[in-house]
Amino acid sequence: MNVAIQRAWKVIDAGLNLFYPPVCQLCREQRATYDESYICAVCRRKARAIEPPFCKKCGTPFEGAITAEFDCNECKDADLKFDSARAAVRVNAFILDVVHKYKYARWSWFEKYLGDLLVNAASWELGTDHWDFIVPVPLHSLKRREREFNQAERLAGYLSRATKIPVNNSVLERVTPTQSQTRLTRQERAENVRKAFALRGKVDLKGKNIVLIDDILTTGATTSACAAILRKAGAAKIQVWTVARGG
Ligand SMILES: [Zn+2]
Ligand SMILES: [Zn+2]
Repeated sequence: MNVAIQRAWKVIDAGLNLFYPPVCQLCREQRATYDESYICAVCRRKARAIEPPFCKKCGTPFEGAITAEFDCNECKDADLKFDSARAAVRVNAFILDVVHKYKYARWSWFEKYLGDLLVNAASWELGTDHWDFIVPVPLHSLKRREREFNQAERLAGYLSRATKIPVNNSVLERVTPTQSQTRLTRQERAENVRKAFALRGKVDLKGKNIVLIDDILTTGATTSACAAILRKAGAAKIQVWTVARGG
Protein backbone atom coordinates (compact mmCIF):
# COMPACT_ATOMS: atom_id res chain seq x y z
CA MET A 1 0.00 0.00 0.00
CA ASN A 2 1.45 3.39 -0.86
CA VAL A 3 2.02 6.06 1.75
CA ALA A 4 -0.80 8.33 0.59
CA ILE A 5 -3.37 5.55 0.83
CA GLN A 6 -1.98 4.45 4.17
CA ARG A 7 -2.33 7.99 5.44
CA ALA A 8 -5.87 8.22 4.10
CA TRP A 9 -6.78 4.99 5.87
CA LYS A 10 -5.34 6.29 9.12
CA VAL A 11 -7.48 9.42 8.82
CA ILE A 12 -10.59 7.31 8.15
CA ASP A 13 -9.75 4.95 11.00
CA ALA A 14 -9.15 7.92 13.32
CA GLY A 15 -12.51 9.34 12.18
CA LEU A 16 -14.32 6.10 12.97
CA ASN A 17 -12.56 5.85 16.27
CA LEU A 18 -13.96 9.27 17.17
CA PHE A 19 -17.42 7.76 17.02
CA TYR A 20 -16.40 4.33 18.21
CA PRO A 21 -13.38 4.26 20.52
CA PRO A 22 -11.14 1.22 19.90
CA VAL A 23 -12.79 -0.82 22.63
CA CYS A 24 -14.32 -4.28 22.35
CA GLN A 25 -18.08 -3.86 21.88
CA LEU A 26 -18.78 -7.08 23.80
CA CYS A 27 -16.73 -6.86 27.00
CA ARG A 28 -16.04 -3.09 26.85
CA GLU A 29 -12.73 -3.76 28.54
CA GLN A 30 -10.11 -4.84 25.99
CA ARG A 31 -8.82 -2.93 23.01
CA ALA A 32 -10.30 -3.78 19.60
CA THR A 33 -10.25 -1.69 16.44
CA TYR A 34 -12.65 -1.25 13.54
CA ASP A 35 -10.52 -3.68 11.49
CA GLU A 36 -10.99 -6.25 14.25
CA SER A 37 -14.79 -5.79 14.09
CA TYR A 38 -14.53 -4.30 17.60
CA ILE A 39 -14.21 -7.81 19.04
CA CYS A 40 -11.12 -8.30 21.23
CA ALA A 41 -8.79 -11.30 21.32
CA VAL A 42 -10.11 -12.39 24.72
CA CYS A 43 -13.73 -12.49 23.53
CA ARG A 44 -12.73 -14.24 20.29
CA ARG A 45 -11.38 -17.14 22.32
CA LYS A 46 -14.98 -17.96 23.26
CA ALA A 47 -15.66 -19.10 19.67
CA ARG A 48 -15.45 -22.90 19.53
CA ALA A 49 -14.25 -24.16 16.17
CA ILE A 50 -15.81 -27.36 14.82
CA GLU A 51 -13.21 -30.04 14.28
CA PRO A 52 -13.52 -33.71 13.33
CA PRO A 53 -14.97 -36.09 14.16
CA PHE A 54 -18.38 -34.97 13.00
CA CYS A 55 -21.28 -36.58 11.16
CA LYS A 56 -20.37 -36.69 7.45
CA LYS A 57 -23.85 -35.61 6.51
CA CYS A 58 -25.18 -33.02 8.96
CA GLY A 59 -21.84 -32.00 10.49
CA THR A 60 -22.84 -32.60 14.13
CA PRO A 61 -19.58 -32.82 16.08
CA PHE A 62 -18.88 -35.78 18.36
CA GLU A 63 -16.66 -36.15 21.36
CA GLY A 64 -13.96 -38.77 21.26
CA ALA A 65 -12.26 -40.67 18.48
CA ILE A 66 -14.38 -42.09 15.67
CA THR A 67 -12.46 -43.34 12.69
CA ALA A 68 -15.11 -44.78 10.37
CA GLU A 69 -17.44 -42.58 8.32
CA PHE A 70 -20.94 -42.50 9.72
CA ASP A 71 -24.31 -40.73 9.69
CA CYS A 72 -25.61 -39.77 13.11
CA ASN A 73 -28.99 -40.96 14.42
CA GLU A 74 -30.50 -37.51 14.22
CA CYS A 75 -30.03 -37.11 10.52
CA LYS A 76 -31.16 -40.65 9.81
CA ASP A 77 -34.54 -39.56 11.22
CA ALA A 78 -34.54 -36.06 9.75
CA ASP A 79 -34.42 -36.95 6.02
CA LEU A 80 -32.28 -33.93 5.15
CA LYS A 81 -32.32 -32.99 1.48
CA PHE A 82 -28.78 -31.61 1.21
CA ASP A 83 -25.73 -33.83 0.77
CA SER A 84 -23.78 -32.38 3.65
CA ALA A 85 -23.72 -29.46 6.08
CA ARG A 86 -20.63 -27.84 7.56
CA ALA A 87 -20.11 -24.91 9.91
CA ALA A 88 -17.21 -22.88 11.26
CA VAL A 89 -18.10 -22.82 14.96
CA ARG A 90 -20.54 -24.27 17.45
CA VAL A 91 -23.50 -22.20 18.57
CA ASN A 92 -22.85 -20.81 22.05
CA ALA A 93 -23.81 -17.69 24.02
CA PHE A 94 -20.91 -15.73 22.52
CA ILE A 95 -21.66 -16.43 18.89
CA LEU A 96 -25.42 -15.95 19.36
CA ASP A 97 -24.72 -12.57 20.93
CA VAL A 98 -22.59 -11.53 17.94
CA VAL A 99 -25.10 -12.82 15.36
CA HIS A 100 -28.13 -11.27 17.10
CA LYS A 101 -26.47 -7.87 17.50
CA TYR A 102 -25.42 -7.98 13.85
CA LYS A 103 -28.81 -9.11 12.56
CA TYR A 104 -31.34 -7.39 14.76
CA ALA A 105 -29.48 -4.38 16.18
CA ARG A 106 -27.58 -3.88 12.90
CA TRP A 107 -24.12 -3.78 14.42
CA SER A 108 -22.65 -3.94 10.95
CA TRP A 109 -19.03 -3.90 12.17
CA PHE A 110 -19.52 -7.50 13.39
CA GLU A 111 -20.10 -8.64 9.81
CA LYS A 112 -16.45 -8.95 8.86
CA TYR A 113 -15.78 -11.16 11.88
CA LEU A 114 -18.62 -13.54 10.90
CA GLY A 115 -17.61 -13.45 7.23
CA ASP A 116 -14.00 -14.29 8.12
CA LEU A 117 -15.09 -17.22 10.32
CA LEU A 118 -17.03 -18.65 7.38
CA VAL A 119 -14.28 -18.02 4.82
CA ASN A 120 -11.52 -19.49 7.00
CA ALA A 121 -13.51 -22.67 7.62
CA ALA A 122 -15.02 -23.16 4.15
CA SER A 123 -12.43 -22.04 1.60
CA TRP A 124 -10.15 -25.04 1.79
CA GLU A 125 -12.88 -27.68 1.70
CA LEU A 126 -14.73 -25.96 -1.15
CA GLY A 127 -11.44 -25.74 -3.05
CA THR A 128 -11.24 -29.53 -3.25
CA ASP A 129 -14.31 -29.73 -5.52
CA HIS A 130 -16.05 -27.87 -8.34
CA TRP A 131 -18.94 -25.58 -7.37
CA ASP A 132 -21.12 -23.71 -9.87
CA PHE A 133 -22.52 -21.13 -7.48
CA ILE A 134 -23.33 -20.00 -3.99
CA VAL A 135 -27.01 -19.58 -3.08
CA PRO A 136 -27.88 -17.67 0.10
CA VAL A 137 -31.03 -18.69 1.99
CA PRO A 138 -33.47 -15.93 0.96
CA LEU A 139 -35.47 -13.72 3.28
CA HIS A 140 -39.11 -12.94 2.55
CA SER A 141 -39.39 -9.56 0.81
CA LEU A 142 -41.28 -8.02 3.74
CA LYS A 143 -38.66 -9.11 6.23
CA ARG A 144 -35.88 -7.97 3.95
CA ARG A 145 -37.42 -4.55 3.68
CA GLU A 146 -37.74 -4.36 7.44
CA ARG A 147 -34.16 -5.52 8.14
CA GLU A 148 -32.70 -3.80 5.06
CA PHE A 149 -30.25 -6.62 4.42
CA ASN A 150 -30.14 -10.40 4.19
CA GLN A 151 -27.35 -11.68 6.42
CA ALA A 152 -27.03 -14.91 4.38
CA GLU A 153 -26.54 -12.84 1.24
CA ARG A 154 -23.88 -10.68 2.92
CA LEU A 155 -22.00 -13.75 4.20
CA ALA A 156 -22.25 -15.39 0.77
CA GLY A 157 -20.52 -12.30 -0.63
CA TYR A 158 -17.51 -12.83 1.66
CA LEU A 159 -17.25 -16.47 0.62
CA SER A 160 -17.61 -15.62 -3.05
CA ARG A 161 -14.84 -13.02 -2.94
CA ALA A 162 -12.51 -15.53 -1.27
CA THR A 163 -13.33 -18.57 -3.42
CA LYS A 164 -14.34 -16.91 -6.74
CA ILE A 165 -17.51 -19.04 -6.78
CA PRO A 166 -20.26 -16.67 -8.02
CA VAL A 167 -23.29 -15.85 -5.87
CA ASN A 168 -26.66 -16.57 -7.46
CA ASN A 169 -29.56 -14.68 -5.86
CA SER A 170 -32.00 -15.32 -8.64
CA VAL A 171 -32.92 -19.00 -8.20
CA LEU A 172 -34.67 -19.14 -4.84
CA GLU A 173 -37.26 -16.99 -3.13
CA ARG A 174 -39.07 -17.14 0.16
CA VAL A 175 -42.77 -17.07 -0.58
CA THR A 176 -44.22 -17.17 2.94
CA PRO A 177 -43.02 -15.00 5.80
CA THR A 178 -42.42 -17.76 8.35
CA GLN A 179 -42.63 -16.95 12.03
CA SER A 180 -39.57 -17.08 14.26
CA GLN A 181 -38.35 -20.67 14.56
CA THR A 182 -36.71 -20.41 17.96
CA ARG A 183 -39.60 -21.74 20.06
CA LEU A 184 -40.63 -24.56 17.77
CA THR A 185 -39.82 -28.27 17.96
CA ARG A 186 -37.90 -30.00 15.20
CA GLN A 187 -41.12 -31.30 13.66
CA GLU A 188 -42.90 -27.95 13.85
CA ARG A 189 -39.91 -26.24 12.22
CA ALA A 190 -39.87 -28.69 9.33
CA GLU A 191 -43.63 -28.23 8.83
CA ASN A 192 -43.25 -24.46 9.07
CA VAL A 193 -40.61 -24.13 6.36
CA ARG A 194 -41.67 -26.90 3.99
CA LYS A 195 -43.69 -24.57 1.79
CA ALA A 196 -41.75 -21.41 2.54
CA PHE A 197 -39.45 -21.49 -0.50
CA ALA A 198 -39.93 -21.65 -4.26
CA LEU A 199 -37.96 -21.32 -7.46
CA ARG A 200 -37.96 -17.88 -9.04
CA GLY A 201 -39.70 -18.82 -12.25
CA LYS A 202 -38.36 -21.50 -14.53
CA VAL A 203 -34.84 -22.38 -13.47
CA ASP A 204 -32.78 -25.25 -14.80
CA LEU A 205 -30.11 -26.40 -12.36
CA LYS A 206 -29.39 -29.70 -14.07
CA GLY A 207 -26.04 -31.08 -12.92
CA LYS A 208 -25.12 -27.94 -10.93
CA ASN A 209 -23.12 -28.16 -7.72
CA ILE A 210 -24.40 -25.62 -5.23
CA VAL A 211 -23.16 -24.18 -1.95
CA LEU A 212 -26.11 -23.09 0.21
CA ILE A 213 -25.39 -20.38 2.81
CA ASP A 214 -27.11 -19.38 6.06
CA ASP A 215 -25.90 -17.78 9.28
CA ILE A 216 -26.88 -20.50 11.76
CA LEU A 217 -27.97 -24.10 11.30
CA THR A 218 -30.14 -25.46 14.11
CA THR A 219 -32.16 -28.49 12.99
CA GLY A 220 -31.36 -28.09 9.30
CA ALA A 221 -35.07 -27.69 8.45
CA THR A 222 -34.63 -24.36 6.65
CA THR A 223 -31.63 -25.36 4.55
CA SER A 224 -33.17 -28.77 3.87
CA ALA A 225 -36.33 -27.10 2.53
CA CYS A 226 -34.18 -24.94 0.23
CA ALA A 227 -32.18 -27.98 -0.87
CA ALA A 228 -35.39 -29.86 -1.73
CA ILE A 229 -36.38 -27.06 -4.14
CA LEU A 230 -32.89 -26.87 -5.70
CA ARG A 231 -32.87 -30.65 -6.08
CA LYS A 232 -36.23 -30.64 -7.87
CA ALA A 233 -34.76 -28.17 -10.36
CA GLY A 234 -31.97 -30.65 -11.09
CA ALA A 235 -29.13 -29.67 -8.73
CA ALA A 236 -26.52 -32.43 -8.50
CA LYS A 237 -24.66 -31.73 -5.27
CA ILE A 238 -25.68 -29.41 -2.46
CA GLN A 239 -23.41 -28.54 0.45
CA VAL A 240 -24.62 -26.25 3.20
CA TRP A 241 -22.23 -23.86 4.96
CA THR A 242 -23.15 -21.78 8.00
CA VAL A 243 -21.10 -19.69 10.38
CA ALA A 244 -22.42 -21.64 13.36
CA ARG A 245 -24.41 -24.74 14.13
CA GLY A 246 -26.12 -26.25 17.15
CA GLY A 247 -25.00 -29.52 18.69
ZN1 LIG B 1 -13.86 -8.33 24.43
ZN1 LIG C 1 -25.92 -36.27 11.15
